[in-house]
Amino acid sequence: MRKKIVAGNWKMNNTLEVANKLMQDVNAQLEARGKNCDEVILGVPALYLIPAIEQSGMFQVAAQNCSNKISGAYTGEISASMLASTDVMNCILGHSERRAYYGETNEIIKEKVDRCLENGVTPIFCCGEVLEERKGHKHFEVVESQINEALFHLSAKAFGKVVIAYEPVWAIGTGETASPAQAQEMHAFIRSVVATQFGDEVANDTTILYGGSCKGSNAKELFACQDVDGGLIGGASLDAAEFITIANSF
Ligand code: PEP
Repeated sequence: MRKKIVAGNWKMNNTLEVANKLMQDVNAQLEARGKNCDEVILGVPALYLIPAIEQSGMFQVAAQNCSNKISGAYTGEISASMLASTDVMNCILGHSERRAYYGETNEIIKEKVDRCLENGVTPIFCCGEVLEERKGHKHFEVVESQINEALFHLSAKAFGKVVIAYEPVWAIGTGETASPAQAQEMHAFIRSVVATQFGDEVANDTTILYGGSCKGSNAKELFACQDVDGGLIGGASLDAAEFITIANSF
């Protein structure tokens, strides 16, 4: 089902002490201010997943990555079944930083999507173009092929469990945000691509988040767009008050 979601991506930030305080503050802010979206999710570093699950009163928990392998001799990796066994039911996949710094291809991300779905873990699948691609008017083509290559092998039923996050790489951590018109244009395009593959009903039910320098001051106008169902939030998720302002921007 299409949902309104605000998901934080802490990336490689926060000591355990700071992480615990931030989780307490997110819970407290949500209790005090309420929330007008369906889900608030915190994407925390792997080491903090279990403490996050233990404190997940008002929020859900996401991993920031998982292995494309099922199990075995893959030192340093964490499997989707390990996530599920610790009640971590969401996983960010294919983030542009993983694509750029760790060589993740659409093929590898596709395998990760499969591992998550096999274990009942919701993939938050990231896609988005780099600046040169947008300047070269290739952004629609790039995003379509990322989605096609990593997600369109799925059945309509399995695809229905995936959350998509459109994150123009030029807007991530740069302070530069896609305009609401640019976000809406791409989100509508993604929904049309999904409709062509799986039909209108599946497309209308697909949750598509925007990510890229989304903050309290711009979330309202982004979330007001017809095809923007919420946000994947990096830097602004490191401040509880700012993050919950975003979560209450629908
Ligand atoms: C992200 O990395 O997913 C992201 C959206 O980062 P930021 O909000 O800092 O641009």
